[in-house]
Amino acid sequence: MLYPQSFDVIVVGGGHAGTEAALASARMGCKTLLLTHNIETLGQMSCNPSIGGIGKGHLVKEVDALGGAMAIATDEAGIQFKILNGSKGPAVRATRAQADRVLYKAAIRQRLENQPNLTIFQQAVDDLMIEGDRVTGAVTQVGIRFTARAVVLTAGTFLDGRIHVGLNNYQAGRAGDPPAISLSARLKELKLPQARLKTGTPPRLDGRTIDFSKCEEQPGDLDPVPVFSFMGNAAMHPRQVSCWVTHTNARTHEIIRSGFDRSPMFTGKIEGVGPRYCPSVEDKVNRFADKESHQIFLEPEGLTTNEYYPNGISTSLPFDIQYELVRSMAGLENAHILRPGYAIEYDYFDPRSLKASFETKSIAGLFFAGQINGTTGYEEAAAQGLFAGLNAALLCRDEAAWLPRRDEAYLGVLVDDLISKGVTEPYRMFTSRAEFRLQLREDNADMRLTETGRKLGLIDDARWAAFSRKQDAVSRETERLRSIWVSPRNLADAESERVLGKAIDHEYNLADLLRRPGVSYAALMSLDEGKFADADVSPAALGELFDPVVEQLEIAAKYSGYIERQKGEVERSAHYENLRLPADLDYLSIPALSIEIRQKLDKQRPETLGLASRISGVTPAAISLLLVHLKKRR
Ligand code: FAD
Repeated sequence: MLYPQSFDVIVVGGGHAGTEAALASARMGCKTLLLTHNIETLGQMSCNPSIGGIGKGHLVKEVDALGGAMAIATDEAGIQFKILNGSKGPAVRATRAQADRVLYKAAIRQRLENQPNLTIFQQAVDDLMIEGDRVTGAVTQVGIRFTARAVVLTAGTFLDGRIHVGLNNYQAGRAGDPPAISLSARLKELKLPQARLKTGTPPRLDGRTIDFSKCEEQPGDLDPVPVFSFMGNAAMHPRQVSCWVTHTNARTHEIIRSGFDRSPMFTGKIEGVGPRYCPSVEDKVNRFADKESHQIFLEPEGLTTNEYYPNGISTSLPFDIQYELVRSMAGLENAHILRPGYAIEYDYFDPRSLKASFETKSIAGLFFAGQINGTTGYEEAAAQGLFAGLNAALLCRDEAAWLPRRDEAYLGVLVDDLISKGVTEPYRMFTSRAEFRLQLREDNADMRLTETGRKLGLIDDARWAAFSRKQDAVSRETERLRSIWVSPRNLADAESERVLGKAIDHEYNLADLLRRPGVSYAALMSLDEGKFADADVSPAALGELFDPVVEQLEIAAKYSGYIERQKGEVERSAHYENLRLPADLDYLSIPALSIEIRQKLDKQRPETLGLASRISGVTPAAISLLLVHLKKRR
């Protein structure tokens, strides 16, 4: 059957990429259809119920700054929040939350169901409709044909997914969900460059059978409880609970080693490469043989369940080994496993076959986002989903793609890394991937992106009003600090020493003084018993904006020197970064380049010189030679 209505954008898959893609496209006014296997699994967390962390939290804040759902859903579902790296510089500080998985799914579903322009339909997609080199729609399992101008594919770990537990294996998308076999076959037929990756998850435990008195308690940050969304507040959070810590020991490691001969990883049953930074416990015991113990976090999966997620023992060892290894740890001697751990192998597609907008180079209108681009993690998926969804919407509006730069957003870093370098293992975000990380902080994600989001049509009036109030308050207060001067004449030495650590020798304005290490905004406001304070900027006057405004003032002042230097670097590289490479450039006939580099450039056909420079193996010398060639060609 041909479905009677046509859509602008179809999103296939209701995971973290798909939900953000569908919401973004619909927010931008495009008639959007979300096709997914099962409405009950919209926004499901396949692995641990936690959002954020270093690098990942930055992406969540950016998704939020562009009007996405992940951060606010986490505020409504988070049962433990922490600021990681709290004592380090603001660039690497990151928010992490443990979420109640039921509340999280409900928060996402509620947003999807109430989003204007968005239609949801439950069915597996088995085929894509293609005319010439253009996608025109998607076909479901029972033959319903939906048409659209653009299709965003976010099938996660489901394409030809195969679950492994020991030497047993079976086809599945993740535990309890069907695989996408027909769609995988269709994509192979289309000759999109595909390979296999794997990821894994630990067995889940019944909290009633854990002896927490033998574990160490790990409460979250409670004073204050952190908040994820720029539109969120701590009052939205449900009850906060603790996590717990236990450890593996020599006996655990002995049990794990005894299962190596039945491990699908070590016996070659699994061919896909797994995430290096989230290794299975058998991988850790094998690779770090001299390490006697590993920390295992026991994380509650929610407020209305007894299920616990033992973070650190992801495994695909046979179930009998899982049973023994769990019970070898303190507090888990009688633990009941509710669900076995497993590994899953799945198809992913080489992201170097995508344009910078995430549209596939070979099929117009077809976009890929999330785990199928070779990444791992909910946050990476959500960021890509939002990006692909908004670019699919722009394509439908016949507008140019939005391509954030590496110095503008982690989203820019993520997209650029994927399309220029590809992946050799599941890709996850780290702050170390961003060369301009001083300006890409969690705290200023809204300052970097919300205005752009508003122009694109992603930001509603309420968020825009809140953002504008904050932005105005920051600039007003910055000006005020610049206008208030203190000098040895009006500031007593004792007062200066109390607040600044030493007497001042000449005149300074408060903005200059705030740049000094150890001098806080609050301390400046207490100078000479409030002589310089002003009723306009009291916490009461700025209301709930007060803390974020002060945070921006302090960070901007303390890091201004470094940030200015970084801006200089950005400007220097920007010229060549955006230089467009002609689509018809014959790389194979550029004699100055090595054959290897010619072939790499010919294969990937980068859109800009910046993208070319980041292809692995393309040296700075080769980029100079390419520039010379381009100048001669003109
Ligand atoms: P998914 O969340 O997988 O969502 C895909 C969606 O598409 C699902 O709703 C599915 O039903 C739907 N779908 C698929 N095919 C079709 C089709 N043909 N028709 C209709 N609907 C379809 N991440 C980490 O960061 N750390 C980890 O340790 C980790 N471990 C993991 C362990 C396991 C076992 C699994 C399965 C995942 C793990 N992940 C981990 C990855 C994390 O779950 C993913 O990165 C994230 O969920 C990817 O989001 P996504 O939206 O791309 O795909």
